Amino acid sequence: MNKAGLPAPGFVKRMGPIVDERRRVEFRALASAELVNRLSDARLPFGWTINPFRGCEFACRYCYARPTHAYLGHADPAEFESRIYVKGADPEHLVARLRRARESGEEVAIGAATDPYQPAEARFSVTRGVLEAVKRVPGLRVGITTKSAGVTRDLDLLREIAGASDLIVNVSLTSLDATLLRRLEPRAPRPDLRLAAMAELSGAGIPTRLFAMPVLPFITDRETGLRALFAAARGAGAREAIWNVLFLRGDTRAYFLDFIGREFPRLLPRYQALYAGGASAKAGYREAVERIASRIALETEFPGRSRTDRVAAERPARRRQLELAW
Ligand code: SF4
Repeated sequence: MNKAGLPAPGFVKRMGPIVDERRRVEFRALASAELVNRLSDARLPFGWTINPFRGCEFACRYCYARPTHAYLGHADPAEFESRIYVKGADPEHLVARLRRARESGEEVAIGAATDPYQPAEARFSVTRGVLEAVKRVPGLRVGITTKSAGVTRDLDLLREIAGASDLIVNVSLTSLDATLLRRLEPRAPRPDLRLAAMAELSGAGIPTRLFAMPVLPFITDRETGLRALFAAARGAGAREAIWNVLFLRGDTRAYFLDFIGREFPRLLPRYQALYAGGASAKAGYREAVERIASRIALETEFPGRSRTDRVAAERPARRRQLELAW
């Protein structure tokens, strides 16, 4: 059991010195046991993860990775945004692990937990180092998920990787309303910047996908907003769209509902009712979103699938226990 305010035993020796401080954000080295982690969660559509950072300055209020900062001794959930841990990896070891991932035939997900192009990347270039290793292992299946236009910095590498591997860049965007997103994702790039990055990547021949996740009940679930979002992403060259309704697990639930209570107080009772049964919204609501999003995806000419369908299609045989890998 982890004690509040104290790092979990497994992390004590791994936490290195502060390597930079700016904008009231502290960057600390984290010796990572493995940067390329094997996953054992059958519900996810990938078999390997790479998360170059722990913590994320983008500060999304619904971020499901936020509670994991407690393992590093941060009792205040807000420290997820201001105490960023930077991982390192030996390039040869990275290549060896990526070869194992290639043998498995399963996708390597870069940034499935925290954003690989958050501001720390501009200073530390860990993600770029990962991509250098990916380039040396042709034939991989790779997905990169980000909210940052910073991904275009690596266009040169991404173009080479796309020529030799099965690469897709998932651009995470849930609304075109910049004012609304400033409340929900305070330090993430504006929607127009994310769409411009999508267009630049697509134009360079790099497959892109709209990640319309999470759909936030009563906030980003309106049909008109979703249609505009899907159409804009299609216009920016996205080949696919996937979506999923907000999932409120563990400490994320209390943090997010507290945020809703402060910022959208009239919605709080509706959220409490919708999530009364657990981490997932009630089935009827999820099915309604699924119907609407599927129809919009068709109307905007996406061969889109929901996340649930994608998991079923891509990982039919795996049925193992949840384990978020870092
Ligand atoms: S960008 Fe991703 S990792 Fe960063 S705070 Fe938002 S949801 Fe969390």
